Amino acid sequence: MLQLRSAAVAAVLFSAAAAGAQQTTAVAPAQTAESRRGVGDTSIFAALDLYPSPNVYRTGDGRPGAHYWRQRADYDLRATLDTGGKSLSASMTLRYTNNSPDTLTFIWVQTEQNAFRSNSLNSLVFAQGGRFGSRNFEGGDMFDHFNQVVNGRSAAVKLRDNGTVTKVDLAQPLAPGKTATFDVAWHFAIPEHGADRMGRDGSLFELAQWYPRVNVYDDVRGWNTEPYLGQGEFYCEYGDFNLSVTVPAGYIVAATGTLENAREVLTTTQISRLATAAKSDKPVAIITAEDLTSGAARPRKTGSMTWRFKAHNVRDVAWAASPDYQWDVSSWQGILAQAYYRPSAAVNWNDAADQSRMSIQEYSERWFKYPYPQISAVEGPISGMEYPMLAMETKSRDKFDLYNVVTHEIGHNWFPMIVGSNERVHFWQDEGLNTFINTFSEARRYPQNGDQMQRAAEERAQIEATQRLNIDIPIELGPDRIDPRKLGFTEYTKTSVGLQLLRQEILGPEAFDDAFRAYINRWAFKHPTPTDFFRTMESVGGQRLDWFWREWFYEDPHFDQAIESVQATDSSGVQHVVVVYGNRARGVLPIRARFSFSDGTTQDFIYPALVWSTNSSRYLREYDFTGKTVKRIDLDPDRRLVDVDRTNNSWMAK
Ligand SMILES: [Zn+2]
Repeated sequence: MLQLRSAAVAAVLFSAAAAGAQQTTAVAPAQTAESRRGVGDTSIFAALDLYPSPNVYRTGDGRPGAHYWRQRADYDLRATLDTGGKSLSASMTLRYTNNSPDTLTFIWVQTEQNAFRSNSLNSLVFAQGGRFGSRNFEGGDMFDHFNQVVNGRSAAVKLRDNGTVTKVDLAQPLAPGKTATFDVAWHFAIPEHGADRMGRDGSLFELAQWYPRVNVYDDVRGWNTEPYLGQGEFYCEYGDFNLSVTVPAGYIVAATGTLENAREVLTTTQISRLATAAKSDKPVAIITAEDLTSGAARPRKTGSMTWRFKAHNVRDVAWAASPDYQWDVSSWQGILAQAYYRPSAAVNWNDAADQSRMSIQEYSERWFKYPYPQISAVEGPISGMEYPMLAMETKSRDKFDLYNVVTHEIGHNWFPMIVGSNERVHFWQDEGLNTFINTFSEARRYPQNGDQMQRAAEERAQIEATQRLNIDIPIELGPDRIDPRKLGFTEYTKTSVGLQLLRQEILGPEAFDDAFRAYINRWAFKHPTPTDFFRTMESVGGQRLDWFWREWFYEDPHFDQAIESVQATDSSGVQHVVVVYGNRARGVLPIRARFSFSDGTTQDFIYPALVWSTNSSRYLREYDFTGKTVKRIDLDPDRRLVDVDRTNNSWMAK
């Protein structure tokens, strides 16, 4: 999901400051259990009790355990779009495999279109005209039937409507290792604005969160039944999908998966252009603007047409359909990088296929090889939203602005589409990790706007500003407990800043990258918790980081290093200097001190954050310099850290 743009964030910062917003340091949430901590040890360095305790499912060093399991959900989805009636009717065969050790007598499914019916929780929590609001639309999932197939016969199951989740009492209990099959049909009216995740614009439709997806049943929390309020995204099981979408013949469909019936829905010219594009690192136009006006875009124009897609090992499918899509394709290592856009967006979107190609190349080369056969960027009313192999974006001001969104939404294929964390509870595990990897991608695409360190420095300055204005909040609050105006800088930017600090100032790039790749490899196509991330970073990175996880994710302390005192004495050409470094806030970071000398030279002294572990407010060092004297000392002169008060960072000799 796209975060608020910087101008909007700045407006929040200044309005909050003007209102004199006050915020005190939050207490650690319940996850930070007190039990194993030393009695009365309230230090930032105290051991952090993570959850769950290591067990056969999740190991103490952050790997899936010997008996790790997750459920599996395979879907055959059939959808028919009524463009005149602005509605969707659909059916599915769902095969749900119980890999847990538990016999299940019920399952939960997501009925997220219910967010858009009158008096939904969504409509009561969010302003109706807002980004995540329902805009007073009378929609909602309407089931035509919901059957479980038992011994070859369909048996109706009992449903309990709980808003955006629905409880399904099974007609027959589901034992460990067994698969239950369901036959479901439903329909709904398509909202114009579906919480900025799906919707329509004239004849263009974007469909997402549109079928009854099985909720995740996991070893950590059992059934994850958090409602869909709009801001929190989703948490789904992996499986294989067959998708068929029936639309008017004049429509072009983009979807998660591989197109299976090109010969039925494309012209021979388009099929031959696609073959060229599959070997081209430059975009090839499959459907041009002229094709749209001349009628060459479609093999026929009357009646309906069914597009069939297949997707392997994904946690969701989404699609978009428009009669006005231009279509460009290039490729990287045989993976198709595609862009679908209306002529009205062509001025920047003619770069989108190439932007998509560079995004999958960058993330593949740096972190983990993209495992899917294609990626599609689709233009439409949704400002920025991610699904497996499909990224939705809107028109943009310029190519930089477009890349910012394209590479962000495509980056979500790594977090959370490959690494399947629970977005509705731990928002930062996808938005924050993704924002961090975006800094490398943006720097690679447009180095003229700054290298990765410069991108990270800009994010750090923003987080420092939120602390100075006292409007910052803890990251681990989760998406549904955060003022939407604070969501961006808290979940996206602050997480990214923390990972940058961890990489550059705490673990070092080599250790960080080793650990970060290990996290992706260990948890690809699985369901990691924050604990699994923390343990992997410690175990592979090689440092205990209780203090960092506490200060960066659970609590929200500020950072303020200072030079408390400097005493210099000269004897026989040697200057003896005693410096007391101060830490005036609860948060701790490494010390970066730059000494400037009488001979015009400088020297940096860097100390790890652990120097604060025995005395978290004062750290004393003595130095001897021969043939030169100290003229000034500056803390963090290159602004590589976060510091809410930089006026106490310098000392100058009289
Ligand atoms: Zn996002």
